[in-house]
This record gives sequence, C-alpha cells and structure tokens, in this order.
Amino acid sequence: MRAALPDLAARAASVAGSPVRDILALTARPEVISFAGGLPAAELFDAEPIREAFARVLTEAPRRALQYSTTEGDPGLRAATAGRLTARGLPTDPDELLVTSGSQQALTLLATALLEPGDVVLVENPTYLAALQCFSFAGARIVPVPGDEDGLDPAALDALVERERPKLLYTIPTFQNPTGRTLPAERRRAVAEVAERRGLWIVEDDPYGELRFEGEPVPWIASRPEAADRTVLLGSFSKIMAPGLRLGWLRAPAALRRACVIAKQAADLHSTTVDQMAAARYLTDSDLDAHLARVRDAYRERRDALLAGLGEALPEGSRWNRPDGGMFIWASLPEGCDATERLRVAVEHDVAYVPGAPFFAGEPDRATMRLTFVTHTPEEIAEGLRRLAKALH
Ligand code: PMP
Repeated sequence: MRAALPDLAARAASVAGSPVRDILALTARPEVISFAGGLPAAELFDAEPIREAFARVLTEAPRRALQYSTTEGDPGLRAATAGRLTARGLPTDPDELLVTSGSQQALTLLATALLEPGDVVLVENPTYLAALQCFSFAGARIVPVPGDEDGLDPAALDALVERERPKLLYTIPTFQNPTGRTLPAERRRAVAEVAERRGLWIVEDDPYGELRFEGEPVPWIASRPEAADRTVLLGSFSKIMAPGLRLGWLRAPAALRRACVIAKQAADLHSTTVDQMAAARYLTDSDLDAHLARVRDAYRERRDALLAGLGEALPEGSRWNRPDGGMFIWASLPEGCDATERLRVAVEHDVAYVPGAPFFAGEPDRATMRLTFVTHTPEEIAEGLRRLAKALH
C-alpha cells in the first residue's frame, strides 16, 4: 500500500501559468515569424567581445571566477553599474546596489522582503505577466491603477492608495511591457508625491530605458527627492547585453536592500561569479555604449518596418501606438475581436504575437495584442505582416 502524498502548497495551485503558452509552444518551429516572445535580436549580441571577456577572466583569475562569492555581487560589476547610473543622472554608490540573477529575481526578493499574504500591490493595467505571477505567489492582492495612453493616472493612484493602503506600487515607467508606453515626467513627479504623502514603496522596473531611439530620456522616479527613500530601481543586462547571462541589479534604500540580501542568500547565495566577472570585464574592456548605439539603430529600423505594414496587416478599425524605444508595440483589434482566438489562425499561417489578455490584472481587454518588433530583420517583419494580413482578414 502506498500512502497518498501531501498536497502541493495552495499558492502553487492558485497561480496559473500563461494560458497562451501552449499555442506559443508551436511558434518554436523555425518557419514561424514570431512577434510574440520578448527576445532581443540574437544576431546583434556582442558575442566575440563577450567571449573574450570570459576567456580573460578564466585565464587571469580562474580561482576567483570559479569560487563562491559574496551575495551583494561582484565589486567590479557593482562599480561599473553605479558609474553608468551616476553618468545617467542618478548618483549611485556601488554599495547601494545588489546584483541579482536577472531583474526577475529582484521581483522575487522584493516580494519576499515586503509582502505578507493579503497585502495589496498596485500595478499598471496591463503589466508584465511574470511580475503578476511573482506577486500572486507571495499571496498579494493585486489591484490595477487606471491609466491611459501615457500610463498610470496619478490622481487615480492617489485615490486607490487612500482606499486600499497598498504596500507597494509596481511600475515600468519607460517603454512598458507590454504596452511600450512611457510615463511623462510630470506624472512621475506626481507619483513620487503620492508615495511621499501617503507612504508606500515604489518598485520602478526599468529594463528598457536604454533602448531609446528617439526623444529625450525622462528622469527616473527614483531620482525624485520626494521618493528617493521609498523607491527601488530595478535594472537588467538582459536587453542591453544578453539575457542568457541572467544578470540584473536592484538599487534600494539600506534597510530594504539588507532584507533583499538575506532573501537572496536563501534563494541562491549569489549570482554566478564567472558571469558577473565577465560582464564587469566586458564593461571595462569593450564599449557597451557603442554596441547600444548599433542596437538602437537596428531596433528603430525594425520598429519602423512593423509600423509601416501594420495598417495593412490588421483589420480595419484596429489601433496601435508608436513607442520611442523599447521592444513592443501594443495594438487593439476592432471591438468584439478576440486576439487569443485569432492567434490559432495566425500560427497556422506561421506568424505569431502575444494576446494582451494575460497581461491584465482583473477583467482583460480581449481585443489587444503585443507585438515585439526587435527579434526579426525588417525583411522578415514585412513577410510576417503579409502572413498576419492573410490570417486576420
Ligand atoms: N521586468 C520586465 C518589465 C521585463 O519585461 C522583464 C523581461 N522580459 C523582466 C523584468 C525580467 O528580465 P530579466 O530577468 O531578464 O532581467
């Protein structure tokens, strides 16, 4: 007789995987042109200089590169990252940074450090799916903040904070995932003031800010004096260097940062020593900014290729935006259309996108979709759009 095993934790059963994953699994076929996954352009990775950085680190300091290291992160990588932040207008000491295994881990660490089951987390609607999953795992109650084409509405935020007493606001103010939207400076100031007046943490997630092709950078919420002591800024090397490195960082006030360090000890002790040292070495020996300039030029061209053909590809009455950077365009099919249902037909035509529905907290807008414009060349994008036109008309 074999006794039944105890149940999985309730949270494991309650947090759903992405409902479109099965359909998107079909897009792994090489013939599919995918506007779906948020994959940076692989042919633009700075592969040879990164290979050299790994070779140097493993040749010159193998005993350190292959050894356990500190939870806070490689000193060279923290110094280089602090230098970049300072140069971009946010004075930062290396000690203010914690290196994380992708910014995804920063979200988990913050959830561990800040959230009790039942705590309220405010989010943009729609927002990054894996952040929703992360906060759900922590048992948070997720409440969407109303907004518009420019992002969340600070007055609505103020009213919600008064009513819901949230622990934190999670926001992606620049080239948001999934909408590509950027919160204007004036609203950032207003958000910082709400946090100052009412008392809440702001988690400012910024993996896309350095992918700006046009317009002026908008200062971080973290740089507002009103919110400096209550804002955690998250960054990532995924979109500017390579996502396979799994390297990100968080910049947080001291007490919260220490709590995140302890949470990280429990999670993975530290991010990989060799990857951190190689990334630091790359930042010293190579020119990330020159590389980024090439990436931005290519991405601008790809965005324009997608915008140029979208009008013909989507049914009449569809709408979409034109972000100044990042990786995503957000589109809405005419009212009554369901982008999830249409995806099946699109995949039959060897083209894919992500339906918008899973990105919503609460009632989704089923007509919406996210299109990633960076993964394919302009020629492939044009072909993908021809297929999309056939599938959707
Ligand atoms: N935050 C946002 C808004 C993202 O879009 C992503 C990746 N798609 C992440 C965090 C996680 O990125 P990574 O762990 O690769 O740094």
